[in-house]
Amino acid sequence: MAKATTTIQQTLTYQPHHGDWLAANQALFNRVASFYFDVIQAHCNVLDHPNKEALTILELLTHTTQRNSNPVMPLSDIAEDIPAYFRRAAIHAALGSAHSFHSHLEKWKQRKEKAIAKGKTFHVRPPVPPRAWNKSVTLYQGMWKDRTDNSIMIKVWTGTCWSWINVRITGRELPLDAELGSPQLIRKGTQWWLHTPVEKQFQNPGKIEKQVTTNLETKICAVDLNISENIAVCTVQTVEGTILATKFIKGGDEISGFRKRQLGRIARNRRKTSIIAKGEQDNIALWKMIRQVDEQCAHRISARIVQFAKQHEASILVFEHLGNLRPAKGMYSRRGNTKRAYWMRGRIFTYAKYKAYNTGIVTSRVSPRNTSRECAYCHNLIARYNAGKPAEGYTPGAPLAACGACGMKGNADRNASLVIGQRLIERYHPKEKPQALRRVSKDTGVIVSQDAKNKKEPSIPSVRHADSNEHGTAQDVVFRMDEHASDIPTQLRLFNE
Ligand SMILES: [Zn+2]
Repeated sequence: MAKATTTIQQTLTYQPHHGDWLAANQALFNRVASFYFDVIQAHCNVLDHPNKEALTILELLTHTTQRNSNPVMPLSDIAEDIPAYFRRAAIHAALGSAHSFHSHLEKWKQRKEKAIAKGKTFHVRPPVPPRAWNKSVTLYQGMWKDRTDNSIMIKVWTGTCWSWINVRITGRELPLDAELGSPQLIRKGTQWWLHTPVEKQFQNPGKIEKQVTTNLETKICAVDLNISENIAVCTVQTVEGTILATKFIKGGDEISGFRKRQLGRIARNRRKTSIIAKGEQDNIALWKMIRQVDEQCAHRISARIVQFAKQHEASILVFEHLGNLRPAKGMYSRRGNTKRAYWMRGRIFTYAKYKAYNTGIVTSRVSPRNTSRECAYCHNLIARYNAGKPAEGYTPGAPLAACGACGMKGNADRNASLVIGQRLIERYHPKEKPQALRRVSKDTGVIVSQDAKNKKEPSIPSVRHADSNEHGTAQDVVFRMDEHASDIPTQLRLFNE
């Protein structure tokens, strides 16, 4: 069985002064979390232990008891009478941030070393520990009680003492058959919400490797994400190679146009005020709108991807690894827009992954190398061009693709999507790469053919000699064809030359 977690969000209704208490409660929670972050920084090896042990170590370092009368960094220095479960929730929040910070720092160090080893200068700044703390309070057991469908008692810090308050709950009901996690108090604007993680059990979808190797009918939904009008192009194919369905999810131009207009407005506002106060966010409403639209769009598109996969009974979802941002040149609005479009792609992947998982579909990623340059039918290099132009050359981002080798013509993004799906299949059913496929030089986009490079005879010399030799060799050809059924198109082509 597998588990999936969703969050049930409910609004809270309470007396007006309880709002202040909830705020004081959260402020205290963050003071305690920040304190524990400092304790962890001072005792970094705590992070080498699993969370449960780390918790014990941190309590030993900070919590005064009869047995432990002189802790190294007493928590009582910053606050007295913290309930044990409030403290533990704060410790877990601090551990989460510390793990994240240290893994970022570790990656940064590795990148720096790598750059220095290569003799390059390294300008990327190191990650910094959190400057401000804005964690939501997690209510462990003991901090809440008497939960019904429409009310809950919670224990909060009022600013002067600990007190139980009764708050009303409205909104989505909790599912009956699910396992509840610890609820969280979330502030959205001036309103407080209760978020409850809910765990659902379902039949494990099974490892990708097993699905792909044991059943040729397994359906794979491959997704090509773009920053153009076709935000996502999805195709469903079976492991054996039958293409079953295609879907274009459009709307990229609209979202990008909207975003660009807002960024333009921000740029103009900034020009007017000319100085932006340090540490102060400008154009708050505009930024908020951009964020919300991006977020909503990522949710909508990921939901449509998963819906399409489900509709065609795909059990695997595959994306390509998203490459690094290629910074755009030009105006602020253009640069900012491309950057956000890239972020949104990442978010679509993340959301699709968990949405898929919740419906029993597993997600994988494949190498993005040349996915848009390779023909989905014969794996030769394709031409990519704009409508009305000759089908030759490679214009990045152009909508049409044509393959000189097998005559395939069609949409370039759909072709890329098919290639992405095949990459996953090939991971478990490896086939020989046709000789014609080779490296594309990064800087020039010029194809570096290995044939041209080493001037060796290309593949399968026996086929070439079939004319001059006797039928012994011809039989050999037939035998070889049976053996590598997947290579037939390549061989036939050579045979006709
Ligand atoms: Zn082709």
